[in-house]
Amino acid sequence: MSKKKLATVWLGGCSGCHMSLLDIDERLLELLKLVDIVKSPIVDTKEFPGVDVALVEGAITSDEHLHEIHNIRKKTKILVAFGDCAVTANVPSLRNPIPMKDVLSRAYIEAESVDKGQIPCDDAILKLLPRVMPLHEAVKVDVFIPGCPPSADLIFYVLSELVNGRIPVLDKERLRYG
Ligand code: SF4
Repeated sequence: MSKKKLATVWLGGCSGCHMSLLDIDERLLELLKLVDIVKSPIVDTKEFPGVDVALVEGAITSDEHLHEIHNIRKKTKILVAFGDCAVTANVPSLRNPIPMKDVLSRAYIEAESVDKGQIPCDDAILKLLPRVMPLHEAVKVDVFIPGCPPSADLIFYVLSELVNGRIPVLDKERLRYG
């Protein structure tokens, strides 16, 4: 059986889901017999290649994320919403009820770490969308892995099923015990 191609992507998230992926520990070696990781935050590929499976962490917060997720969808057979930010928009969507000018002011002017800050000009920062979205509002999602972050056991189960050509069953029992 030829090796599957796997990508892991980080959009509007905190990287905690990727940390949980690394918590698979030595079982990663089992997976690497069946997959090649061709794109991830630790594989410096500029272009998104065609892949069998893409794990996408984080919500869609900016025009750049929106462009990226459409590009990923075009080049991916099985797209996985990886963690609660990707599944529901979760923490990044806490800004949704707040006017954009107040969001930018809090980050660039009022934050405790800022000394005489100013809001950067439009060209200097990502163009934030008016509303943070989960992945499925922008593209078709094939598999959802909930959790903030999902447990390493759950991630390992999902990846094991996918690289063996099966769609994982995430029923109540599985989600309760990871
Ligand atoms: S789901 Fe939780 S751990 Fe994963 S990116 Fe979002 S906040 Fe971080």
